[in-house]
Amino acid sequence: MSPVRRCSRTACGRPAVATLTYVYADSTAVLGPLATYAEPHCYDLCSEHSERLTAPRGWEVVRLATDSGPVRPSGDDLEALANAVREAARPQERAAGGGAARDIDPMEVARRGHLRVLRSPES
Ligand SMILES: [Zn+2]
Repeated sequence: MSPVRRCSRTACGRPAVATLTYVYADSTAVLGPLATYAEPHCYDLCSEHSERLTAPRGWEVVRLATDSGPVRPSGDDLEALANAVREAARPQERAAGGGAARDIDPMEVARRGHLRVLRSPES
């Protein structure tokens, strides 16, 4: 069974093409590829609504490319992304951590100040 994912906006029944994830701790909304399964703080959006997305006052929006090659989003990816965003937002804390092991995917690089997240091209 693989029901078609629909846009979560009221009165919009278009197929979802992206998933919006809220990182409440950092007032950041991350718009990325459609998640493989729904999570409590995720909202599926169609192409139109994802393009028109506006964040609440005081929030920042990080948009991930959804058409830059094969991606296989998963819960782990979303969690890693949320961690990356959270870490990028706290450079001082990271510096204070010294050589502490990082538990995020090095492929995910979030730059909160520039509102962009870069993913290294697959080689
Ligand atoms: Zn929609």
